[in-house]
Amino acid sequence: MAKSHSFDYNALLERARQALPEELSSESRWEVPELDLLYEGRTTIIRNWRDIVDTLRRDRTHVMSYLLRELGTAGDGDEDRVVFNGKLTLQQIQDKMDAYVHTYVICSECHRPDTHMTKDGRTTLLKCDACGAHKPVRARRKAG
Ligand SMILES: [Zn+2]
Repeated sequence: MAKSHSFDYNALLERARQALPEELSSESRWEVPELDLLYEGRTTIIRNWRDIVDTLRRDRTHVMSYLLRELGTAGDGDEDRVVFNGKLTLQQIQDKMDAYVHTYVICSECHRPDTHMTKDGRTTLLKCDACGAHKPVRARRKAG
């Protein structure tokens, strides 16, 4: 009696919930543009830097200094491109870029990229605009 009522209600809720992921799934196809590299002399240049930074929605100097540190190289950049000293393979840079995305962009709860970084004292938090989760950023300390 009352049982069938609550069942219907749950079924409704379930349907409402199922309606959501459809909309979300189009956004879950979010991905960082493939790196467009150019080798010039003894340097490696990311040519589509602006696209990448726009997609990450992070401060470009933050992304760049992360990459430089992780790749263990020097370099420089502006809005449009980054120049690394030395020849780096696509895979080398891609690995670090993926690591950056997982550490600083993707929400560990809902795995969506709709996040921003915020400070709580000395702790950097990754706050998710989609699900509201906020967790300290766990930057990997490079061993060696
Ligand atoms: Zn989230």
